[in-house]
Formats: sequence, C-alpha cells, structure tokens
Amino acid sequence: MSEHKFIVDCMHGKLARKMRLYGFDTLYDVKFDDSKVIEIAKLEGRTVITSDEALIERAKSEKLQVIWVPLDNELPRMIKIFETLKILPKIDPKRSRCPNCNSPLAIVKKKDVKDVPENVLKRKRVFYKCTGCGKIYWYGSHWKKIREFEKTLKRMLRELGEGRKNEFKR
Ligand SMILES: [Zn+2]
Repeated sequence: MSEHKFIVDCMHGKLARKMRLYGFDTLYDVKFDDSKVIEIAKLEGRTVITSDEALIERAKSEKLQVIWVPLDNELPRMIKIFETLKILPKIDPKRSRCPNCNSPLAIVKKKDVKDVPENVLKRKRVFYKCTGCGKIYWYGSHWKKIREFEKTLKRMLRELGEGRKNEFKR
C-alpha cells in the first residue's frame, strides 16, 4: 500500500490518523490552507483527499489526483478511499505509520520501552516505537475496535465489489 501518498484537508484529522494506521503516507496539518495542500500535493505527488468542492476543482485544474470523501462519518469515508484505490483494507502494525506524526513504526525491545504503565509492560510482549516522535504503541484494548471496524469495512467493500465482478485486490 505504501506506494500511495496522500494529503488530507484540514477538516479530516481523524481520517488522516486512520490512513496512517493502514500504512499510508498521509500528510495533515490544521495549518494547511487550500493553496498549501495543492502546493504540497504537486511537489510530492500526493493524492488530495477532501470533502471541499472548491478544493476538488482546484486540484483537478492542477491535474492532481483527488478523492472526494463524504463529511458524515468514518465508515463511508474509508469505504470511498478503498473503493477508489481498489484495495481491501488490512492493518499490519509492521507497516503502520504513527497516527500522530506519520513516521514509520519499528518494533522495539521490551527492555528499551519506557514511559509505559507497569501493568502494560508486564502483560504485553510486542511494542512498536515511532521512528519520528518516539511514541510507544502496543495491542491495547482499542485494538479490538480497530479490527471490528476493519471487518465491517471489508464486508461492505466486498458487497460493493460483487456488483462489479470483484475488482478489489489485496
Ligand atoms: Zn510519531
């Protein structure tokens, strides 16, 4: 999935975090206005993700790739993105990027893990460290929710794909 690079408009911070979890190189900053988004997308060959009609028009006139996503909630937004990319979602923490800063994660030895609650350190075996901001990640209670979300996402994409000869690939 890593060949796809994105820039998300300032309204979609939550979406950017999710995209990074899925391993997509995704830029997002509340300080990016439309001109900045266009500038970076052109410079770095990034696909623009937005709900803003004016930004879509501008991006298209600059011959940029753009994905329109609905504003309402996370599921239809992610469906739209994977549908456009024709990829089935699969979170692999080894390929995930830091939701906070977009840097790749790396497995870190337990003895090198700091600033994690004692009980977590005792119970968990695998830890990931952000190569950018240094934040530590592990399979916590939120992981179940992420997997559930992914299951629903996959099911809905498959249903969409069946109507079109299952065009999704992994
Ligand atoms: Zn980070």
